[in-house]
Amino acid sequence: MNRQQFIQSLSVTPEWDICIIGGGATGLGTALDAASRGLKTVLFERSDFAKGTSSKSTKLVHGGVRYLQQGNIKLVKEALRERGLLLQNAPHLVRNQPFIVPNYKWWEKPFYGIGLKIYDKMAGNLGLGPSLFLSKKEVLEQAPTLDAKGLKGGILYHDGQFDDARMAISLAQKAAEYGASVLNYFPVTGFLKTKKKIAGVIVQDALTGKIFEVKSRCVINATGVFTDSLQRLDDKDHRDMIKPSQGIHLVVDKEFLPGEAAIMIPRTDDGRVLFAVPWHDKIVLGTTDTAVDTISDEPKARAEEIDFILQHTGRYLNRHPSINDVRSVFAGLRPLVKGKSKKTAALSRDHLIHESDSGLISISGGKWTTYRKMAEDVTDFAIAQAKLEALPCSTKTISLGKASQIMIPAAVKDLPESLLRLWIQKAVDEELCMTVEDFLSRRSRQLLLDAKASQVMANQVATLMAVNLQKDEDWINEQINIFKTVSQNYLPN
Ligand SMILES: Cc1cc2nc3c(=O)[nH]c(=O)nc-3n(C[C@H](O)[C@H](O)[C@H](O)COP(=O)(O)OP(=O)(O)OC[C@H]3O[C@@H](n4cnc5c(N)ncnc54)[C@H](O)[C@@H]3O)c2cc1C
Repeated sequence: MNRQQFIQSLSVTPEWDICIIGGGATGLGTALDAASRGLKTVLFERSDFAKGTSSKSTKLVHGGVRYLQQGNIKLVKEALRERGLLLQNAPHLVRNQPFIVPNYKWWEKPFYGIGLKIYDKMAGNLGLGPSLFLSKKEVLEQAPTLDAKGLKGGILYHDGQFDDARMAISLAQKAAEYGASVLNYFPVTGFLKTKKKIAGVIVQDALTGKIFEVKSRCVINATGVFTDSLQRLDDKDHRDMIKPSQGIHLVVDKEFLPGEAAIMIPRTDDGRVLFAVPWHDKIVLGTTDTAVDTISDEPKARAEEIDFILQHTGRYLNRHPSINDVRSVFAGLRPLVKGKSKKTAALSRDHLIHESDSGLISISGGKWTTYRKMAEDVTDFAIAQAKLEALPCSTKTISLGKASQIMIPAAVKDLPESLLRLWIQKAVDEELCMTVEDFLSRRSRQLLLDAKASQVMANQVATLMAVNLQKDEDWINEQINIFKTVSQNYLPN
């Protein structure tokens, strides 16, 4: 990807077919869908790709066992199909992850076992493997750190596990291969209108301050929890559609859950599920569901959310993780579509497409797993509304990478400088990595894996990046300071 070429394309393209606002899962998926149908496509992300919710998920590509419990069969079926497609199309980032549901009560085995057999069946020929009933001995062989006291046995089932921010980069690169211009650090600040109808956007290059007016036959708002604020830019009387809900994760060392299997705790005190999932040689514990009023791209974990996760995982593991064991804490905001329920956990994870009076198309809700279907739906909608000529959707079979392509070492700090230099060069040259935080948080994932270790790396990364980006000492110091401030949020205390 080449930022300068993308910027030039703004000046030489009199009118785009589709302009997408937001470079998370939804926006990038839509850019790929639209570009691969032959549409002139441009995407603007105000910060880095996946800077928002899309880098802070639980990293599951899943049908959602919890939604099955809630009886949302349609959503589970759709997500299971998408899970299978993602595993086929992005084997470099998605893998088949075995999960164990430990049973401590006699009724749990038949109850969850039957549910998971239904889950298997719903996946059809895109299933990842049959669920199995395990004895106590078999559970402890797979997950030796589970508390053995009172353990009756368990169920093993399969779901997908992935790297969310890396997936965002793969989508951006693929969209660019199909001719889309995808620009990070380009906030949309206003809309162009002709006779009260949306005719494009006003954007600013956040790195140079230069302003552009970009005409487009249709504009898609894919800004997640920021959907309402964009809609208010279009119509100041717009009433909120999104109810944000915060979920946090704690990252601990692998020794808390050695082996391949993840753990799914099927019922927390607030009636949700909780996961402990191996990820890049660490364990991600999460998540929570807390209704919030403040929307930020760096939401902060609350002390009670951290306690909640530590307490619940402590009940199931023979060594209880404490705050001192936490390597990193990260929080994300779910862009849930408002419904009747006051509890955000009960709000639907389905997606919604909405068109304003001026023709702004907004897509919200959904989940990472279903980004492709969301993209297909919103592109179909946009094509029909703007009467665009386009090829049929083909993203079900577009490959996003090969199994042999990516390996992210858990600790960048252990890399020799020559390898780190190469990695940074690739991130800058091919992945539009513009800041130290882009590299440490979303290209290498170090901030989420070990916040303190990533702080130690900031100086070296800034110095190496400065060479690639031709920046001076002031830039290096500014980047280190910005990273210090942002990374404080990821420290457990
Ligand atoms: C705690 C948690 C755990 C989750 N776990 C999972 C999981 O395991 N599996 C799963 O499938 N799903 C999961 N999800 C859901 C999934 O992460 C989200 O549904 C998905 O990431 C939303 O993507 P998005 O593109 O809609 O929003 P975002 O990722 O928030 O993207 C919106 C983007 O718009 C940009 N933007 C805002 N304003 C502007 C502007 N003016 N100009 C340009 N750009 C702008 C923002 O910077 C942002 O990058 C989880 C969500 C949370 C919160």
